Amino acid sequence: MSEQILQNITAIRERINNACKKAGRNESEVKLLLATKTVPAERIKMALQAGQTLIAENKVQELKEKYEALREIPHTNHFIGHLQTNKIKDLLRCNVSCIQSLNRLELAEKLHHRLQPDNKTMEVLIQVNTSFEESKFGVSPSDTIELIKRVAQLETLKIKGLMTIGLLSAEAERVRKCFRLLKDIQQQVIALKIPGVEMQELSMGMSGDLETAVEEGATMVRVGTAIFGQRSTPDSYYWNENKG
Ligand SMILES: *Cc1c(COP(=O)(O)O)cnc(C)c1O
Repeated sequence: MSEQILQNITAIRERINNACKKAGRNESEVKLLLATKTVPAERIKMALQAGQTLIAENKVQELKEKYEALREIPHTNHFIGHLQTNKIKDLLRCNVSCIQSLNRLELAEKLHHRLQPDNKTMEVLIQVNTSFEESKFGVSPSDTIELIKRVAQLETLKIKGLMTIGLLSAEAERVRKCFRLLKDIQQQVIALKIPGVEMQELSMGMSGDLETAVEEGATMVRVGTAIFGQRSTPDSYYWNENKG
């Protein structure tokens, strides 16, 4: 079982590297993040022991459950799920270094109010709904710049870039449009030169569409299924706001 995980990681890295080659990019420009929802800590451990360093959960409850089991192995934790404001306190106890799913001002302000008294900061990506599907979280593309300007005023939150979930479609060109849109918004934000806002990270691409994302400029791809296997829980459970 552990060998399968390691083989899968090697295969994914090869897919990333091939896509880089095709796009004339350097392999070192694209980080691999392991999306570990539903994956038991024991299996995540195998990936970390094999040299992976970047993992992310979608739910604070799962993050908490695995945190103790994994803390002895050096790694970086990101958060990529819908974050309810009443879970912020628990999340901040689990050594998360970046919240990739910042999608609304209310969440930003509540995070800020938790971080400020402890003189702490948090890296964030702004999650943009580039597919215009209702079931996907993220600020709408047309509201993104306004949200970034507001979040930039909260000095505890360090904006590092953008994240999106592309359209789940077998039509690569429709998926590509989502990634192009994210890149386009990134360029618009860079041109505005908003103080304190960095835009180097584009977190986009998953098991099924990572090549397209790399071709369109992803700096980080988030892979679950292609490394750990099929999940029994449908993604709608993780992507639906009403089932926190
Ligand atoms: C589950 C998940 C992924 C990984 O998806 P796979 O198709 O399993 O690779 C990436 N990003 C987010 C936000 C996810 O919830």
